[in-house]
Amino acid sequence: MSIQSLNPATEEVVASFNPLSEGDLQNVLNSTAESWTGWKSKSFSERAGLLKKAADQLRAQSEELAEIMAVEMGKPIRMGKEEALKCAAVCDYYADEGESMLAPIPVEGVGRKAFVTFEPLGTVLTVMPWNFPFWQVFRIAAPSLMAGNTVVLKHASNVPQCALAIEKIFVDAGFPANVFRTLLIGASQVETVLDHKSVFAVSLTGSAAAGRKVASAAGARLKKSVMELGGSDPLVVLADADIEEAVKVATKSRCRNTGQTCISAKRFIVMDEVYDEFVSGLTKRMSRLVMGDPFDPKTDMGPMSSGRLRAELQEQVDRCVEAGGKILIGGSIPKRTGYYYPPTIITDISPSADVCKEELFGPVALVFRVHSVDEAVAVANDTPFGLGGSVWSKDEDAAAKVAARIRTGCVYINSLVRSNMHLPFGGTGISGYGRELGSYGIREFVNVKPVCIG
Ligand code: NDP
Repeated sequence: MSIQSLNPATEEVVASFNPLSEGDLQNVLNSTAESWTGWKSKSFSERAGLLKKAADQLRAQSEELAEIMAVEMGKPIRMGKEEALKCAAVCDYYADEGESMLAPIPVEGVGRKAFVTFEPLGTVLTVMPWNFPFWQVFRIAAPSLMAGNTVVLKHASNVPQCALAIEKIFVDAGFPANVFRTLLIGASQVETVLDHKSVFAVSLTGSAAAGRKVASAAGARLKKSVMELGGSDPLVVLADADIEEAVKVATKSRCRNTGQTCISAKRFIVMDEVYDEFVSGLTKRMSRLVMGDPFDPKTDMGPMSSGRLRAELQEQVDRCVEAGGKILIGGSIPKRTGYYYPPTIITDISPSADVCKEELFGPVALVFRVHSVDEAVAVANDTPFGLGGSVWSKDEDAAAKVAARIRTGCVYINSLVRSNMHLPFGGTGISGYGRELGSYGIREFVNVKPVCIG
């Protein structure tokens, strides 16, 4: 079956590609393995120089990369450009910091002298989603390449042109051949890649279902995996919060990228004292968002990435209503071409309803009223996910105490949850394991090797 690029705003197929044959796939993996020998022998400063050139290419090509994102997955142009620039920043970051992050660490009290080194291991397989089709790839590729590994990318099947554009960035930057390769393959070919002897690890971002399959396949071959698997983040609003600011950030968090973001706030847990004010503010702000053509600079929200995921979201919204949820705005598919879904707010649903335990990957806010901090924490933790969360209060110490009780990979106080390149990023529970970004991310895919003298 061909890999198709389908514009979610027009519902038209814009390009199709044949997946690699088994023979071609083996040839690419063998070439990547051969290139590793030269790549790992380069100095940190040589690798850093090339990463800086990749950053230059991302900046120079940001307009056209944004257009490819808009056409393939509906991201509004200005947000696509921001994404390309964020990728440039992460290349610069690891080019500047990578060497010191991987410098040998001396250890006292063992032998005459001991130190811990970090060595590259071979090829990292990255299995990536379409929602941030450049950022998700670069936040793994930049540290992996800087550490001296080679990288192969199996991108989501709906963004083949993004996948090819990413490979071209490395070519245009002057990387040696086959240090970074895009594999146009289907999900069923991932196990073949894992079978290759030079592929030592896989990093997957996507659904828990895909994570379970790929982590099992990696485990069966005793290959390392890092899993970033989405979330159902709580946004907790305490009674003394700045409601206007909380509403502003809540709207951005839930609706940016048409709600298709692993770390968007999805469950809004609001103290009784400020519940009415918060819900009324959220309703006003979410209603004002402009939904439309990703190429129109006024657009806040483009279409969802596919008809399949929009149908799944509608089915979840319908189950919310069956479970007692009340729709304040949105809640149904508009009659227009394109996979659009309107900003939607649902209240009065029990946080323990089955549907509230799922990830709602679209612009749908579930709002819960709570009467105490203990109840807020209990609702926040009443989920199998554990990626991110935020707490809103003018008393930062009180907010920090609540943050400490929330079981997630990160918590932000009075701020938007985001993946920041300086900080480790990853989840607990079915949000996955392992960490990306910061110094933790670059050490996931290396051999941590102590050397002891005497
Ligand atoms: P998937 O998790 O199915 O896809 C993510 C990546 O995994 C794609 O490259 C996909 O390839 C690959 N993949 C899927 N199944 C397998 C498999 N069995 N073996 C190997 N690779 C596999 O995401 P969907 O696009 O279907 O979205 C479904 C849900 O996942 C969303 O509603 C959302 O809840 C969650 N999601 C979370 C994301 C996040 O940022 N954490 C990003 C995207 C989705 P292919 O495209 O060829 O199937």
